[in-house]
Amino acid sequence: MHSVEEALELIGKHATPLPTYECDAVDALGSAMTHDLISEQDSPAFDKSMMDGYAVIAADLDDGPANLEVVDEIAAGVTTVEVIRPGTCARIMTGAPMPPGADAVALVENTQIDSENVHRVMITETVSPGKNVLKRGGLLKEGQVVLAAGSVIRPIEVGILSDMSKGRVTVHRSPSISIISTGDELVSAHEEPAPGQIRNSNGPMLEAMASEAGATVNQLGIVRDKRQDLADAISQGLESDILILSGGVSSGVLDLVPSELAANGVEQIFHKVCIKPGKPLWFGKRVSGDKTTLVFGLPGNPVSSLVCFHLFVRSALNQLKGRAEAPLYVPGFLLTRDFVNHGDRPVYFPAMACRKEGAGATISPLDWKGSADLATLAKANALASFAPNTKYEAGQFISAIMI
Ligand code: AMP
Ligand code: MG
Repeated sequence: MHSVEEALELIGKHATPLPTYECDAVDALGSAMTHDLISEQDSPAFDKSMMDGYAVIAADLDDGPANLEVVDEIAAGVTTVEVIRPGTCARIMTGAPMPPGADAVALVENTQIDSENVHRVMITETVSPGKNVLKRGGLLKEGQVVLAAGSVIRPIEVGILSDMSKGRVTVHRSPSISIISTGDELVSAHEEPAPGQIRNSNGPMLEAMASEAGATVNQLGIVRDKRQDLADAISQGLESDILILSGGVSSGVLDLVPSELAANGVEQIFHKVCIKPGKPLWFGKRVSGDKTTLVFGLPGNPVSSLVCFHLFVRSALNQLKGRAEAPLYVPGFLLTRDFVNHGDRPVYFPAMACRKEGAGATISPLDWKGSADLATLAKANALASFAPNTKYEAGQFISAIMI
């Protein structure tokens, strides 16, 4: 049985980034940069005033208030040629280029127009050279890497790309995901379950997780534990980049998923991972011509499905989208109660992490009743990570996966 790390490594080996296309930056939200974005010029491209005021020679004000001649008025977007010489200054607006000769901006609030001569101004503050001026290249130098390949495009990056890349960007296309919920006992969410039946919570939950992770979802609904029904649904699902099946991957007599996947040309890469919950996880791939489909068989219990998606499917999705992997574990949570993992598998236990003023980050394992207990997860924002056969005491630091 593979460890979590081995399973992730195997998934990484088979999940290669999808083809790229060019689009508007705003449509690339959640995608990843395929190349470094390099600054083509200094930013700002000219020395720029950061305030409304007067562009001056700082040394003119060294001896206290000075009465200067106003030789120009410079608005943002205007190019200027008037040179500032000792004894002169220019009215300047925020964002306007500094006139040659001037080295600082005195704030308009600290000036008085000469009542007898509108071409003169009394400046009542002293300024040091560079005051209120953003120097050319002060934000970015030509040739500097602004966004690294693999970084995720958030609204901030959309703004940067709009400024520096004409609002266009090349990204990997979004993966498509098909979702099949297997089980003779399942009815859809809007149906009333008969005795022995349950509503399909995995299908919609996995759909929501896949959408949130930036995939296009093809919901194939509930499929009975019958070979022909499964074969039909699998062959439809194999048209996507990723196929997820929930249920039917354990050792029950009706757990037909692994054998039916094999019968439909899906090569098994691993079955079972040393983890709780989620042990029966199945992973494989089908290559047909130039189309590769990654296939995940997730255990049917809702929390097992959720944990396996978070750990394994999300990792595959990130790689298909070319996103640099963020570290899975967040370290440094102070455990609020004792916890014992008697089992021989690492446990990812639903927990509530919080950060309190003066107390740092704490984590409280919830009163969770096991893999079928999805309701308790409404209070969870993390999975606390516990090593096998280990006793933990309140006050110890542990790592967690944020969900
Ligand atoms: P299985 O992995 O098919 O053996 O299912 C394990 C448990 O998860 C059983 O109790 C199932 O009834 C339950 N289960 C399977 N599929 C779903 C689903 N789509 N939604 C909610 N529970 C499910
Ligand atoms: Mg089943």
